[in-house]
Amino acid sequence: MSDRVCGCGAELGPDWYVCRGCVGTFRGLLSDLGGLMDDVDAAIGKQLRFGGGGGRRGSDRPLPIDVLVVETAWTARQAVLKWVDWVAAVRGHPVPAAWSEVGTYLRESSGWLSRHPSGPEAIAAVVSAVRRVRRSTDAPPEHPYVGKCSSCGHEVHASATAVIAGCRYCGAEVDVPTLRDETLRRVRDHLVTAADAERLFDEMGIKLTADLVRKWRKRGDVAAVRMNVKGQPLFRIGDLLARHAATFRNEGA
Ligand SMILES: [Zn+2]
Ligand SMILES: [Zn+2]
Repeated sequence: MSDRVCGCGAELGPDWYVCRGCVGTFRGLLSDLGGLMDDVDAAIGKQLRFGGGGGRRGSDRPLPIDVLVVETAWTARQAVLKWVDWVAAVRGHPVPAAWSEVGTYLRESSGWLSRHPSGPEAIAAVVSAVRRVRRSTDAPPEHPYVGKCSSCGHEVHASATAVIAGCRYCGAEVDVPTLRDETLRRVRDHLVTAADAERLFDEMGIKLTADLVRKWRKRGDVAAVRMNVKGQPLFRIGDLLARHAATFRNEGA
């Protein structure tokens, strides 16, 4: 087998051992390693407290904790630590001390790894380990919804100011503003009440209160398309978005 082919099947140029796509996946998955590891610790702490207490040995009560989650997270962390130790040793760097630094260091080492004969093994091991950890921690998303990942279809969440985000599940790099625009374009013809608009926009990380929508209507800045059965005015999402963008532009000027 030629070693000029990436593990994913993509062709490789001379001096390369891992393709750009696979390096992107690696980098994307490591984009918030510190936060991910905090989530793991929180999840494990909760489970250990729940399952702990001692004195229950010999009881035939099944273990209430999800041992699999704890074990998976532990194994995955060992794998990441093993490879960051190796990279730091070969490159002659100090081993990063905190998880956030481990993530940053490995991301910074991605170019070097992609040209090292052991790069494919290291990148595959870290990618698979971080994916396992991500699956084991099912923390509720803390950031607004952006849209569906074009590679794997999972929900992507990102902060309002993020430009690039890594998909939590497949590691694909997501262009946040573009995906958000696409998502909003898909829903622009839906009709919503002022209150529903506030909730929906809030979910997308856009500040727009129901009161403001009512104020716009009173001023004639947006028109209600029709009334619902309760007699509440319904607005087209696209109209609200356009009005919101105009306000934002004026404030920014
Ligand atoms: Zn590849
Ligand atoms: Zn994905």
